Amino acid sequence: MSFHVRRKDREITDCEELRQVLKRTKYVTVALCMQDEPYLVSLSHGYDEAKNCVYFHCAPEGKKLEFLKANSRVWGQALLDFGVTEECDYAYTSVHFSGKMQLIDDLPEKQHGMEVLVRQVSLNPEAKLAKIKPERLETITMGRIDIDYMSGKKHLIPKN
Ligand SMILES: Cc1cc2nc3c(=O)[nH]c(=O)nc-3n(C[C@H](O)[C@H](O)[C@H](O)COP(=O)(O)OP(=O)(O)OC[C@H]3O[C@@H](n4cnc5c(N)ncnc54)[C@H](O)[C@@H]3O)c2cc1C
Repeated sequence: MSFHVRRKDREITDCEELRQVLKRTKYVTVALCMQDEPYLVSLSHGYDEAKNCVYFHCAPEGKKLEFLKANSRVWGQALLDFGVTEECDYAYTSVHFSGKMQLIDDLPEKQHGMEVLVRQVSLNPEAKLAKIKPERLETITMGRIDIDYMSGKKHLIPKN
């Protein structure tokens, strides 16, 4: 079955605008599924525009990794939350995406993913990156979501 944003007046169709939401947000919320059981986690992320993928890091074990082993297809959301308006409506811009999630073993890619991630989520990225030496990076679990679909919706975004 195929679905589209019902409210055409709120739909974001410009690819660059969709990508900017993934670039401006600090985390994505990702839905996983194993044997008809849903699960979701929020993950701090870095969006790589050139590769259209999201990088994240996590603990080496846990429920989400068991779900990932069983089924690598994920659905995700990135949200710019502008809160409740004077009229008691809700102002937001959000992007939904689907893709395949996998862990990364390749050290140069981990280095690249970590740079993308830290530059996006940190106020002082260079100082933080300087502390992450290759031997430490080897012990860090990192993953990537390759995005194959995106949709966007915005409602009452503030002018500034
Ligand atoms: C804004 C934000 C950013 C985050 N960024 C990252 C990140 O970059 N990397 C990362 O690994 N994690 C991040 N987290 C935490 C993440 O959402 C998960 O809590 C964490 O990854 C553990 O997931 P797990 O499946 O391994 O949990 P497990 O420790 O295996 O937990 C199993 C059970 O604990 C409960 N549980 C797990 N997490 C939560 C939770 N957050 N709240 C309530 N109950 C929970 C669930 O019921 C689950 O069934 C972030 C959370 C938030 C809110």
